[in-house]
Amino acid sequence: MNGRTITHAQLAALVADLVAAGTAVTAPARAADGRLDYRPVTRLEDAVLGDGLPRLSLKALFLPPTEPLFAFRLSGSDVAIDSVPTSFPPHVVLGAVPCDAAGVQALDKVMGWDYRDELWFGRREATTIVSVGCSSRDETCFCGATGGGPTATRGADLLLVPLEGGFAVEIVTSKGEALVTAHEERFGPAPNEADVARSRAALAGSRVEPVAPLAPVTTWLAEHFEDPLWADVALRCHGCGACASVCPTCHCFDIVDEPEGVTHGTRRRNWDTCQAGRFTLHASGHNPRADQHARFRQRLMHKFSIYPARFGELLCTGCGRCSRACPGGMDLPEVLRTIAERAATAGGAA
Ligand code: SF4
Ligand code: SF4
Repeated sequence: MNGRTITHAQLAALVADLVAAGTAVTAPARAADGRLDYRPVTRLEDAVLGDGLPRLSLKALFLPPTEPLFAFRLSGSDVAIDSVPTSFPPHVVLGAVPCDAAGVQALDKVMGWDYRDELWFGRREATTIVSVGCSSRDETCFCGATGGGPTATRGADLLLVPLEGGFAVEIVTSKGEALVTAHEERFGPAPNEADVARSRAALAGSRVEPVAPLAPVTTWLAEHFEDPLWADVALRCHGCGACASVCPTCHCFDIVDEPEGVTHGTRRRNWDTCQAGRFTLHASGHNPRADQHARFRQRLMHKFSIYPARFGELLCTGCGRCSRACPGGMDLPEVLRTIAERAATAGGAA
């Protein structure tokens, strides 16, 4: 392990240093009603590290639910454009859940694909993500089946692994290393490797993932765009979009012009979802995804077939939020198990 240690007292001092230097710190923190969300914090004691999955993922820090893209105003016979800043002040996310950090990295691919989203990358470049080993998996999590795990480092710049009195600090990226170097006095020597291995093993536990590795699912999906399964599994889906709102990797948005008077206004983007009936509604009245089963199929296809085909990785981190949020009781691990069974049957029959 390429790393250091940090005690709880040193970590508290690091947070104080960052805040004093004007660096925003975001961490999982509880509201008065007990709900856990990523929130701005100014003291370590307000952060909840490694103990619970925040209600919403890290996505909103980099792709806010609504944001201006530019302002426009009539200027004589022309339209003048006032752009928005695409560079952002330094920001540290402390205590990211590993599956949320992984979600941010998965989205880097689509955000930099055929068009570079400067707002996304402006925030990404300004932000250092410090993940912490997760001890809060439940029956809806399946990070292990997506290539992650409770101490996975994908998307993290530093990873904290709990030790007696503090953490082992794994340095994952040069950005993480820069944070350590800039606050050298807040970090201790390299950890005892045996202690780190024991902590990792305790977090991994002996749990069996609710879903097997997903390669057969990806293969089956590519060959079953039309299948009776879709109408069957989508019966529970209301098209509310709760799943997409809480998902760390769903990233659809629409773009609207909001007039603020006769001569000026703002172009904004707002989160949207492929689960909504009007998401693909054409001005002609035609809707290529007219049924909810076609919309549910789209979400599954995009995450487990289309994205892997284009970018070489799943668009799902196995966080389980969509299952917890769905008012219809849609359980993604159950759907994936159903597909895996069909894939196994098809394979056996071949
Ligand atoms: S949360 Fe459930 S009901 Fe709502 S769109 Fe998603 S799958 Fe459908
Ligand atoms: S699809 Fe569900 S399990 Fe996968 S990343 Fe999104 S919310 Fe998490």
